[in-house]
Amino acid sequence: MRIAILADIHANLQALEAVIADAGSVDEWWCLGDIVGYGADPVACIELMSTLPHLAVPGNHDLGAVGEAALDRFNGNARTCLQWTAKQLGSEHKRYVLALAPKIVRDPFTLVHASPRDTVWEYIVSGDVARANMPHFSTPLCLVGHTHRTAAFSEDGTVDFARASAALMGQPVPRFICNPGATGQPRDGNPRAAYMKVDTVKGELAWHRVAYDWHEAARRITAAGLPEIEASRLRTGN
Ligand code: ZN
Repeated sequence: MRIAILADIHANLQALEAVIADAGSVDEWWCLGDIVGYGADPVACIELMSTLPHLAVPGNHDLGAVGEAALDRFNGNARTCLQWTAKQLGSEHKRYVLALAPKIVRDPFTLVHASPRDTVWEYIVSGDVARANMPHFSTPLCLVGHTHRTAAFSEDGTVDFARASAALMGQPVPRFICNPGATGQPRDGNPRAAYMKVDTVKGELAWHRVAYDWHEAARRITAAGLPEIEASRLRTGN
């Protein structure tokens, strides 16, 4: 089975379309949360994901947009974007978010947005935080988003993108927490849209980046009257 794994699309339709085109033929699409927030196309992104055979878990921004996460936990710009997003979503889009389960297990993977012990808010930004989360899932691999940065943290404390594939094949290696990076708002200094591809037959797990029309995504954020920082950061990937 071939799977494309996306995270933190953040209502960036141009990035989502570019990733879908780049990934080509896959059997399933997995989304690790935050389909909406920050960007100008929350409705189009939910509707496009809905046309694909996919699994999704909800992110903090998705939950904030439908009244299931307190807006005072977000910074000012994020909150402004979520108040705007809530007005764009129809009842069917809210129902879509409300129906998502916070944790999905598809052996050998566990899928969550933030971390296995706190699926909504915790940032796995270091090996120490990753190690503290290892007892909170039981599969060889856990897939997370939320930090908008690629990651492959092993339970022995190293960062090793290449060895994570061995865990996919059930080999006796450390367990891993992997992050594809952000599809719609990268923050690792690389503005290209991020996603992962998995081939469970070949035992391959790969991180991909794809150029997309960030000018148009930024133009739409400005045209919607959303905070300018959310447009300009798409150019730098920060
Ligand atoms: Zn996010």
